[in-house]
Amino acid sequence: MIIPKKEKLSAEELKQVEKIAEDSECTILEIQGRNRCVYAILGDESKEVMFKRIAGLPFIRKVDRIESPYKLMDRRSALADHRVKVGATEVGKDGPFVIGGPCTIDPANPNLFIETAHALKEAGVNALRGGVWKPRTNPYSFQGDNHSLDIILQAKQETGLPIDIEVMDSEQLKLAIEAKVDVLQVGTRNALNYSLLKEIGHLSTGTDSAVLLKRGRHVASPNEFIAAAEYIVAEGNPNVMLCPRGTTPALDGYRNHPDEAISPLLKGKTWAPVVVDPSHSVGHSEYVKACSLASIAYGAVGLCIESHINPASGIGDDPKQAVTPDKMKEIIDSCRLLWQHRYSP
Ligand code: PEP
Ligand code: MN
Repeated sequence: MIIPKKEKLSAEELKQVEKIAEDSECTILEIQGRNRCVYAILGDESKEVMFKRIAGLPFIRKVDRIESPYKLMDRRSALADHRVKVGATEVGKDGPFVIGGPCTIDPANPNLFIETAHALKEAGVNALRGGVWKPRTNPYSFQGDNHSLDIILQAKQETGLPIDIEVMDSEQLKLAIEAKVDVLQVGTRNALNYSLLKEIGHLSTGTDSAVLLKRGRHVASPNEFIAAAEYIVAEGNPNVMLCPRGTTPALDGYRNHPDEAISPLLKGKTWAPVVVDPSHSVGHSEYVKACSLASIAYGAVGLCIESHINPASGIGDDPKQAVTPDKMKEIIDSCRLLWQHRYSP
């Protein structure tokens, strides 16, 4: 990883670096952070001479060598100080970053979503979520509707809150980026779909869209999880959040096997913020508060919680696992309190 002395290399300086890398059959990838650029060396980077020649350039501060399968996501990488922002908020800076909203937007009843959005703003959420397109296990279940994108955009305009939606393919991704969706969610089913991850990284680079990457449900190991995020960051977008959401086989009685306990493991390995989804983890609204508190106690800096103004009338997962906005307020207030007292290693 090459760190320049100033915020960004000039075109002429970059050319010099690229020429040295090229002589060793490597290429250079520019990574644009919020405040400065760093440059990754791609290829066989064991070439000592290349390192020395790049480090010797007068405009280079240092060249870091990190032996890691995820050199950009690594805690020791030049991105270690990178902070992810969603809208105007830095994730996890002043308290838990909470994303809330229904599992699935009902395009036939837009007011349910709009009213939920206003109630959740009152409850204190930092961002709204809502499924526009849904990855459904049953191919005959409701799959989503493009009209729902307009509904969530209306809610964003009315509340001023940033929005999070899941994208599952190129077409959805392009529509979401065009609509300036603040958070592109990658669901557990696509968590290891490397070509989609690369495309998301590529197309979101240079935009303000961050990515919420769920953990692969089939017990993706922490390293596999982080390496999946590396695909996005390696394309040039460092605004990635990691989202444990429970794994399968499920713990008897829960929807999945709750996995908020991997938060400190992830934090030990990567700088990326951990935002836990307790809703899909436990899968029942009555357990969501406990799982949210556990997540914060384990060091997660955010939560993605399904919530609906009237869960029984919702579609998708809402009747089972969505909490009401009142309950959401109770969860947020308790988590903020815990945040102030939590153990910091
Ligand atoms: C969702 O957030 O509604 C969803 C489908 O999530 P997951 O991919 O974690 O199942
Ligand atoms: Mn859901």
